[in-house]
Amino acid sequence: MKLSARKLLSASTQELKEKLGGNFIVVFEDGVEVETCDIEVIYSSYVWDMFRQYPLAPITSKHFIKAILGGKPAGSGTHTKFMREVLWHIHDHYQTIGLEVDMELLSKMVVNISNQIYNDGTLELPEEALTTDFLDYIELAEYPPMVKILQTLEKPNVTEEDIDAANKAAQDLFMKDKGISHNQLIQAVRSGLVRMNQMLQCTVVRGFVFNVNDRIFAEPSLGNFGRGYKDWYSAFIDSRTISVSLNSSLKLLPDTEYGSRKLQILDMTVETVYDTDCGSQEYLPYLIRPDRPGRKGDFNNWLGKYFLDEEQGVVRELTNKDTHLIGKTLQFRSVLGGCKHPDPHGICRVCYSSQAKVIPKHTNIGHASAAYLMQILVQLSLSTKHVINSASAKKISLSDSYSQFIKAGSDGYSYVLAKQPKGKTVELIVHPSNVGDIAILGKTKMVTSLVPDQISEISYLKLKYTKGEDVETVDVMVELEKRKASFTHLALSYIRDNGFTRDRDGNYVFDFTNFPPGQSFLALPKQVFNTSDHAAAILTLIQGAANDRKKRASEDSLATYFHELYEMVNEKLDVSAHILEIIVYGASVRNSDAGDFRLPKAGTSAEMGILSKTVPGRSAGPAMAFERHAGFIFSTALFSPKNLSSHLFDVFVMPQETVLDRRRRGLR
Ligand SMILES: [Zn+2]
Repeated sequence: MKLSARKLLSASTQELKEKLGGNFIVVFEDGVEVETCDIEVIYSSYVWDMFRQYPLAPITSKHFIKAILGGKPAGSGTHTKFMREVLWHIHDHYQTIGLEVDMELLSKMVVNISNQIYNDGTLELPEEALTTDFLDYIELAEYPPMVKILQTLEKPNVTEEDIDAANKAAQDLFMKDKGISHNQLIQAVRSGLVRMNQMLQCTVVRGFVFNVNDRIFAEPSLGNFGRGYKDWYSAFIDSRTISVSLNSSLKLLPDTEYGSRKLQILDMTVETVYDTDCGSQEYLPYLIRPDRPGRKGDFNNWLGKYFLDEEQGVVRELTNKDTHLIGKTLQFRSVLGGCKHPDPHGICRVCYSSQAKVIPKHTNIGHASAAYLMQILVQLSLSTKHVINSASAKKISLSDSYSQFIKAGSDGYSYVLAKQPKGKTVELIVHPSNVGDIAILGKTKMVTSLVPDQISEISYLKLKYTKGEDVETVDVMVELEKRKASFTHLALSYIRDNGFTRDRDGNYVFDFTNFPPGQSFLALPKQVFNTSDHAAAILTLIQGAANDRKKRASEDSLATYFHELYEMVNEKLDVSAHILEIIVYGASVRNSDAGDFRLPKAGTSAEMGILSKTVPGRSAGPAMAFERHAGFIFSTALFSPKNLSSHLFDVFVMPQETVLDRRRRGLR
C-alpha cells in the first residue's frame, strides 16, 4: 500500500493512531518512496504538526524519523534534532517564497510537541520501558571481550595511556558489539539514557584522581564503582573527591554565581536588536584561524556575522559556504566599531549577527548574552564538584623552533636539554624569585627526600650557549596552564655536586654542560586544569579592577579586551563572537573620567569601564541591586540627569516614570 505524506498530514496524530497499522510505503514530495510502518509515521506525525501549521513547505523524505536516525538507534536527543530540521526547513522555504513565518509560534510549537511526546509516551508505552538490574552488570563484566579489556589493566604501573586505551575499547564494545546488544544496560547506553563517562567509571576503572590542590595522585585507582573498591588506596584517594567538592561549594561557586548576577545587571543595558542595517562604515578586523593542535579554529564562532566582502564590495553574512575564507583577516561589522542605530540601548542586526532572527521579540540581548556565558562558566565551576572522569593534565608541546635547545620528555610532563656539539657550554639562568631554599641542597645527602617545588618553581628560563667568543641565548617559557616547572631530583643532585653562581643581577646561573644527555632536568606537576580559576579569570577580565583604570581607558581598548576575552574563553570553550561582543559592549562606557557611563555609539568616545564604577554611574536601579545601598541612594551624582543612562531595574526605584519612558520608546 502506498500513502502520500501530504495526505497523512490531513489527519491528526490521534486519527493516525486509530487508523494506521502494519507496514506500508509513504511517498514524499521529493518523489522518494520510503518503506515504513505505523510506529515511525505516528512518531513523525507529532513533529509534522509544524507542516500542518505551515502547509506551503514541501514535506520531503528528509523530514521523516528514518532519515533523522540514519540507521542509528533513537536517543534522548532524537526529537530535538528532528524538530530543528523541520523548523529551519519551514523557515528557509517561506523566506524563499517571500513569506514570513512566526518564529515565536514555531518555537512554542517545539515546546508543545516535546511535551506531547513525553506525555503520550509516558501514558501509552509503559510496557515498552526498560529497566536494568545488577544481572546486566554481571553479564557485561563476564562477557569475554569485556574481560579481555579489563585484563589489559592487570599489570604494574598502569599509565594514563593504558586507561585511555581500555576506555576507548570498552566504549567501542558498548556502542557496536552485536553479541551484547540484548543487554538492557547496553541498550540504555546506546540510546544516550546513561552517560558514557558514568558507564566507564562503573565498569572499567575509576582512573586518576586529583586532590584539592589540583595535583593528580601518582597512582590511579584500579577499582570501579560496579565491583567496588577492594584496596585502601582507592578508597582513600577517592575520598578526596568529596573534599574537592566541599572546597568548591564554600567559595568558588558562590563567587561565580555572584559574578554572574553582576555581569547580567551590567550587560542588561544593551536592550534591543533591531531588524535593520545602520550602515556603519566601522569594522572590527579579525583573522579567521584554521584548526590548530589542541585548539579548534575560529570559523564556526564567526558564522552569521556580517563582514565586508571586498571582492564583491558588499557587506554580507559569513555562511557555511565560506570555508575558503579561513586563514584570511575579515573586516567584520561590530557593535564594538560603533553602531549608528539611534536607540541609546539598541543595536542593529548587521552590527550584531544574522542570529538576530532566532531571538524572540522583547528579549533583552545584553542579559541573554551574559546569562549564556555565565551559565557555561557556572557549569564549569560545578564540574569541579562533580568530577567523574579519570583526571589528566595538559602535556607539554613546544614549537619546533626550540627543538635544537629544549624538548619535551617522553612522559609529556618534563623537559630535556637537546644535545649540543662538543666544546659548547650550556648554562641555565633563573630569576631569583623562581628559586626557593636551594642552600638546603648542600646539607642534604638524599636529594630524593626533598620536595622539588620547594626548591624551584620556574616560569621562564634563559639558556645560554657559549663556544669561545660565540654566545647565544634563548628564552623559554616552561610554565604551562599556571603550572610552574621544578628541577627534577636528578637535576637537584647534579646542582648539589656541581654548584652554581650568581650573576650581576642576582640571577642563579647553573652550568648544565655535563648533565646526562636525554634525562629530564625540569618537570611540571601533574595537575588538572582548574576550571574555577578559568571562570574567575574571565569574570575579572570583564569587570576590571580600579587599578586597571588607565589601561581600560586607552584608545582601542574595546577591541583589545574583546580579543583577550575571546582568546581566554575559547581556549577551553566554544562561544560565538557575537555573544562575547555584546558582553564587552555592555561593559564599555563613553568616558569614565568625565562620569559618562552611557553605552558608546558610532562617533562617540569609547573605553572599557570598570564594573564597580559603571553600574552605579549609569543609574540608581541597578546600583540598588548591589551592596552599599545607602551610599548609592544618597549619592548626589544620581540627582544630576546629565549623562545618566536608563536601566530596566529603574522600575523598582521610579515605577511610573520608567514604564512611561519605555512606552514612549515603543518598547513593551
Ligand atoms: Zn549598526
